[in-house]
Amino acid sequence: DMEVAIKVVVVGNGAVGKSSMIQRYCKGIFTKDYKKTIGVDFLERQIIVNGEEVRLMLWDTAGQEEFDAITKAYYRGAQACVLVFSTTDRESFQAINSWRQKVEAEVGNIPTVLVQNKIDLLEETVIKNEEAEALAKRLKLRFYRASVKEDLNVNEVFKYLAEKYLQR
Ligand code: GDP
Ligand code: MG
Repeated sequence: DMEVAIKVVVVGNGAVGKSSMIQRYCKGIFTKDYKKTIGVDFLERQIIVNGEEVRLMLWDTAGQEEFDAITKAYYRGAQACVLVFSTTDRESFQAINSWRQKVEAEVGNIPTVLVQNKIDLLEETVIKNEEAEALAKRLKLRFYRASVKEDLNVNEVFKYLAEKYLQR
């Protein structure tokens, strides 16, 4: 039985929770003062999807996204993508379009999911539900509201991507 391995890139503006999401999913932890550098290119986790073993390799950036300096090597060979914005950061929501375009320019149309992180901070929201849903609809993407902090919907995001990838 051949094992399936999927390179997943997690993109979005700085501070939306990308590194935290990767840590949460692969190590099961959430730390408030997560360091910018993770020290390795990616963390991985193995799951079973439709009876198949799937190894997800989640690639992190070392904060280069804040300088619009993500290298081509980061995207190279990516097979799935998580687009992340934050409940409390309107700019991160407005930047989703341009992140999508960057990924598409580098690796084409790969299985992608849209994630609104930090829904534990919903009382501080700067994004209306309708506009987030409208964006997902326009980009034709599955949309999840998640909280990496509270561990809400994180597993679902990656399970969906793995399923979507296997369906190709
Ligand atoms: P990155 O720059 O996108 O990699 O974001 P980080 O993972 O470094 O997270 C930025 C900040 O947001 C950190 O202080 C995290 O602890 C915090 N954070 C991440 N996810 C959540 C969440 O779901 N809820 C809350 N309240 N804070 C979060
Ligand atoms: Mg980070």
